[in-house]
Amino acid sequence: MAKDKLKVAFYWAASCGGCEIAVLDINEKILDVIQIADIVFWPVAMDIKYKDVEAMPDKYVDVCFFNGGIRNPEQEHLAKILRQKSKILVAYGACAHLGGVPGLANMANKKEVFEKAYFSTFSTINAEKITPQPSVHVKEGELDIPEFYDSVRTLDQVVDVDYYVPGCPPAVERTLFAVEAIAKGELPPKGSVLAPLKSVCDECPRKKENKKITKIYRTYEKVPEPERCLLEQGIICMGPATRGGCGARCLNADMPCTGCGGPCPNSPEQGAAMISALASILGLEEEKEKYSEEDVEKLMSQIKDPIGTFYMYALAASILRRKVIK
Ligand code: SF4
Repeated sequence: MAKDKLKVAFYWAASCGGCEIAVLDINEKILDVIQIADIVFWPVAMDIKYKDVEAMPDKYVDVCFFNGGIRNPEQEHLAKILRQKSKILVAYGACAHLGGVPGLANMANKKEVFEKAYFSTFSTINAEKITPQPSVHVKEGELDIPEFYDSVRTLDQVVDVDYYVPGCPPAVERTLFAVEAIAKGELPPKGSVLAPLKSVCDECPRKKENKKITKIYRTYEKVPEPERCLLEQGIICMGPATRGGCGARCLNADMPCTGCGGPCPNSPEQGAAMISALASILGLEEEKEKYSEEDVEKLMSQIKDPIGTFYMYALAASILRRKVIK
């Protein structure tokens, strides 16, 4: 291993694994990266054991890209170990940054998640009602698997995080920006999100005409006009409440922004920011003061999945965090 090269680690916790693939989306630029960096820990791609990383001296790793939220004690242990072993810890992708889609399970507790996943989905046959157990006896001996926590936590709810790379998964330009900034030692202040300050709306090429809407469509209910703002066509688009830096890639593919970039810097509560943006555009012909409660109920009932819509990635990081467990 070259002495002057950066030592880089990757780890995958509670996430789908898309962030691990996103690292490779930088394509031929990976050749530039390996000129300046050696990978010292990446369980998904190299044969290395946890005891190897535990044996590294503290701050041995220059930068660790940690993707995924924290859902079990194994992930929590690795988060703590990698914090101890790394000079720079980066929460890479929406799940480490905000809890991500797995964080939506904070609307339930472990019992309810298991009930759904192991007993009651349409495709589940589990007559013996078997669920994962922390300790299982097999003929080779005792098998321990990490216990499932009631809640998903973001990486910074468990350890100190230096930087955040947003996105589900992060756009190629965000990954390259992070790698280059680290290599050149040109990082912004600790705690920064490595993305521009503007919103997805600011990057979106679609035309806004300040039109009001009375009806909300789900994506499968309407083929959108290609050049007009989706929100003004009645399709909920999280663009106004989401941090940019992705090049509005979903909008360019005729899909609304679902908010993976996380909140804009001046409106840290992403769901509330979007509800406020929607309230300014959704309405009846009458002035808002004249709405009856029934009118408001009717408008709101068009939003079929408010938490999944407004907090698809950021529930675990929001002021709500989770449903109260009684
Ligand atoms: Fe583009 Fe969505 Fe913003 Fe409309 S709301 S301008 S479609 S990002």
